[in-house]
Amino acid sequence: MKIDPTALISLVIPCFNEEEVIHETLTRLDALAVSLEGYAVEFVFVDDGSRDKTREFLTVAAMKDPRIKVIAFARNFGHQVAVTAGVDMASGDAVVLIDADLQDPPEVVLTMVEKWREGYDVAYGVRAERLGESRFKLFTAKWFYRLLNRISDISIPLDTGDFRLMSRRVVECLKKMPEQDRFIRGMVSWVGFRQIGIPYTRVPRFAGESKYPLRKMIRFSLDGILSFSTKPLRIAMTLGMTSSLIALGGIAYVLFVRLFTHSWVEGWAGILCSI
Ligand code: UDP
Ligand code: MG
Repeated sequence: MKIDPTALISLVIPCFNEEEVIHETLTRLDALAVSLEGYAVEFVFVDDGSRDKTREFLTVAAMKDPRIKVIAFARNFGHQVAVTAGVDMASGDAVVLIDADLQDPPEVVLTMVEKWREGYDVAYGVRAERLGESRFKLFTAKWFYRLLNRISDISIPLDTGDFRLMSRRVVECLKKMPEQDRFIRGMVSWVGFRQIGIPYTRVPRFAGESKYPLRKMIRFSLDGILSFSTKPLRIAMTLGMTSSLIALGGIAYVLFVRLFTHSWVEGWAGILCSI
């Protein structure tokens, strides 16, 4: 790997109730920083309103290690908001998004950095294999991304999450995007520049449970579809126009009966037309 002593790599790690994994995560990320010899590294942990000891553990770690920054949210705002805050605060020449639960192996970041040095602006992880994931999650994820690709106006690489490295210029573009309901993996894809996928095996969580219950998954997938496809808007328009046409036909029928036949009752036409 080429050594560039001036380059800083930021790792952004969103955490929500991760007390069971956080120590192992710190250890593994520290080992990664050692492997990234020649680069300066900073860790931007975003505590997304954890209700367990995550924040306490992170604060203690930050006191001992000047490379660690902690952003502490006042409540749980959700993964995408946490990642956004982390990216905003990261000052690296390259910014890496990685989950706290070690499902994204930190060692893959070495390959991402290599690609970045080769001139790529985005190196995203492609989940070639997903171990220890429920059938439901595998099924819904597989079909969601295929559906999104079919109906969206841009192509978002299949089987990717937010695990990725982005160059500073991509980060600056991302920071300028005012989206409220953010679907970051789509936004990065939309920005453009040179992007490359890196296949990796997504391993089971090191410990603890998924922090993405069905409710959050549905919200997230709707954000993806509504942000990157005009199809829902078109469906609403078509439905609206169709029902208006049917109603107009109904009015014409009522008026015909009222004006040209004798089979109507007083008040009938007025009420039916307003309906
Ligand atoms: N996370 C977060 N806020 C949330 C939910 C999750 O910051 O409201 C973090 C979580 O701590 C983890 C990452 O986002 O680092 C991915 O969440 P998780 O592993 O639970 O999702 P899954 O891998 O099951 O889809
Ligand atoms: Mg996970």
